Amino acid sequence: MFFFSKPQKNISLYNTLTRKKEDFKPIKNGEVKFYQCGPTVYWTQHIGNLRAMVLSDFMRRTLSYLGYKVTFVRNYTDVGHLTSDSDIGEDKMEKAVKREGGNPKEIADKYIKIFENDTKNLNILEPDSKPRATEYVKDIIEAVKILMEKGYAYSTDLAIYFDISKANDYTKLSGQNLEENKSGAGNANIEDSQKKNPADFALWFFKAGKHEKALQYWPSPFDSLLVKNGEGFPGWHIECSIMIKKLLGKTIDVHMGGIEHIPVHHTNEIAQSEALNNVPLANYWLHNEWLIVNGGKMAKSEGSSYSLSEIKEKGFNPLVLRYFFMQAHYRSKQNFTWEALQGANSGYEHLKNQVKELGGKIGKVDKNFKDKFEKIIGDDFNIPQALALFQEILKSDIPKENKLATIYDFNKIFGLDLKKELHSPVAVSDEIIKLAEERKLAR
Ligand code: AMP
Ligand code: ZN
Repeated sequence: MFFFSKPQKNISLYNTLTRKKEDFKPIKNGEVKFYQCGPTVYWTQHIGNLRAMVLSDFMRRTLSYLGYKVTFVRNYTDVGHLTSDSDIGEDKMEKAVKREGGNPKEIADKYIKIFENDTKNLNILEPDSKPRATEYVKDIIEAVKILMEKGYAYSTDLAIYFDISKANDYTKLSGQNLEENKSGAGNANIEDSQKKNPADFALWFFKAGKHEKALQYWPSPFDSLLVKNGEGFPGWHIECSIMIKKLLGKTIDVHMGGIEHIPVHHTNEIAQSEALNNVPLANYWLHNEWLIVNGGKMAKSEGSSYSLSEIKEKGFNPLVLRYFFMQAHYRSKQNFTWEALQGANSGYEHLKNQVKELGGKIGKVDKNFKDKFEKIIGDDFNIPQALALFQEILKSDIPKENKLATIYDFNKIFGLDLKKELHSPVAVSDEIIKLAEERKLAR
């Protein structure tokens, strides 16, 4: 038997690393290795977090649509992420235990379940792998050992740090001036006076000092006068470097995350991975902008965040939120208001009705519209503009059945629920079934 690989269409991506749009060239012809930094599973993710997940879903579906075989990995952070993104503050998982009781594993299980229910509701495709940081501690320790041996890391009594002065162009991703902007460090030197440079970041925290009562810890080969058996836990950044290497390889095609990760988390991932592997960590760095409320980032700590359940409680179909996210480009901020969501609801309902009116017969995908579509999505994933093409198709004079075929074809990326009502038997919700049963019982 012969296999012919599908030719891939062109796509250009805005690469944070080079600060320009570049034609995408995969490492291996026709394949994309894609990693997205996933959630810290200590709380219900708000719809700002979920925006990031819907956006990566559009990217992944776009790459598949254009003919690439995508391997997509999104991790779960279940240890080592402190309340700041640097080395300051307490462990987020422990904070959750204080709040709710139980243990970190139970907390992680609970919030992973909620998150996966939300992503399913939003029609986000399942990743090929969903590694948890705690499953990779052995590999992390191995890597930290190598970084020590290579001279990139040093230990104090409280932690093992990556020495950023040894990194090859530490600030290349952010272009930040570390003297002016110490966001990677905060007042870290005050917390550990043995630290060499404020921006050095922890690869391993010993179960000592403010982490003396750490709930999650493992023995390690590292020495500290304050603990036995080198007990401690990994810093946040190293987990992504290790899971990427284990699951996707030393250099990947696309690395994605929120824009706030540029100066600290991703900068540190690059420093340690490149020190370990002597090759670039990722060829294309993509960063999504935030969902904002009242001018600021939607954030739990600001009390300005909503969960998907709250959206559902107000009567919105989760796919209305997906439709809402289609209205802004991933590199633009998007402002959330209930009015805007209501607007998306009307837009989505209207679109569904327009599609319904096309009847049930599916013709051929229209070549002109498809070419246009591929150009638009191939321009750094311009989903808002691609969505607008729907109205152009609907207004055009191509045959109804071809309109339908074309819309269904584009919907492989959009992931809206446009087909169901036409082709599946009338969907009856659990609630209606329950109501009917209750009525039966009452009789
Ligand atoms: P966290 O659990 O805070 O590490 O966030 C998980 C992911 O959600 C990260 O990739 C963040 O960049 C993203 N995220 C957090 N807040 C927002 C927001 N308001 N808008 C868009 N993405 C966000
Ligand atoms: Zn990461």
